[in-house]
Amino acid sequence: MNIRFLGTAAAEGWPAAFCNCQACRKAMQLGGKNIRTRSQTLINGELLIDFPPDTYMHKLSYGLDLTAVKHLLITHKHMDHFFPQEFSIRGAYFSHDMTNERLDIYCAQEVKDHFDSVVGGEIKEECYDLLTWHILSPFSTVTMGRYQVTPLPASHMNEENEPFVYHIVDKEGTSILYLLDSGYYKEEVWDYFKAVVTTSGPVSMVVYDSTDFALDSNHSKHMSFSEVKRVKERMASIGVINEETVCVLDHFFHNGKCLHDEMTALAESENCIVAYDGMELSV
Ligand SMILES: [Zn+2]
Ligand SMILES: [Zn+2]
Ligand SMILES: [Zn+2]
Repeated sequence: MNIRFLGTAAAEGWPAAFCNCQACRKAMQLGGKNIRTRSQTLINGELLIDFPPDTYMHKLSYGLDLTAVKHLLITHKHMDHFFPQEFSIRGAYFSHDMTNERLDIYCAQEVKDHFDSVVGGEIKEECYDLLTWHILSPFSTVTMGRYQVTPLPASHMNEENEPFVYHIVDKEGTSILYLLDSGYYKEEVWDYFKAVVTTSGPVSMVVYDSTDFALDSNHSKHMSFSEVKRVKERMASIGVINEETVCVLDHFFHNGKCLHDEMTALAESENCIVAYDGMELSV
C-alpha cells in the first residue's frame, strides 16, 4: 500500500488560524515540516480517509485528482475531519471530466446526519445523487473494492456513539490500524486486536493519535507520546505489532510543546516516525 499523509494537524492547524503563541510563531518562521494542515490520509490514490477543510489545499499542494478517489472513509464529524460544504460543488456544472462521478462514503450515522443538517438545504439534487452512503456499525467489516475495513469505537467524545478508528486490510493482507482521533482504547477494542493477531498476525502499520505529544495528558480524548509508548508496549506484548510494523505518530497541535525535529528526536528512541504534510510511505 502507498500511504500519503496529506495533512497532519489537529483542528486548529499549525500555525493555528488565530494563534500567535511561541510554537505557532516558530513553526511559521521555520516552515517546512512544521507547517501542518488538518488531518487527511490517502491510500493508493483511491481510498481517502477524512475530508477536512484543507482538502482543497491538498489538491493544490500535491496536484491531486480528487475525482480519482473511489472510497471516502470518515472517522468522525469534528470539523478537522469532515467539512461537508465542499460536496455542494461536486458534480453538476461545477465539475467536468470527472474520473469517477460516483463517490462511496463510509461513516457513522451521526456523520451522515451532520451532512444533511449542514448542506441538506443547499446541495443540488444532481450532486447529492452522486454520493452513495454506507452507514457503518462497530466491529462490522465492510468491503470497499480491494479493502476490508472494520470500524472500531474510538475513545474520543465520551459519548454512547463514539467515532470510529479503522482496521484496513488490502487483498494482499497488508494492514493498517488507523487510530485518529482516540485516547486509550476500550477493552473491547483490545479484544478485537487480540483476535486480529490470531487470524492474521501483526499489522503492517499503525497510525497513532499523538495530539498532546509532550504534554502530560491523560484525558482519554487524544494521546501524548508517553501514552503512545504505553499502548505500543501492550500491543507488542499481545503481538499486534512487531519490529517490522511501521509506527507513525500523527495529528499534532501547537500546545504539544515540540516542533517537528524535537518530536523526531524523541520518537526515534521508540522506533516511531513523526508524520508531516506530504509524507509518503509504503507497506
Ligand atoms: Zn482531529
Ligand atoms: Zn499557537
Ligand atoms: Zn476529533
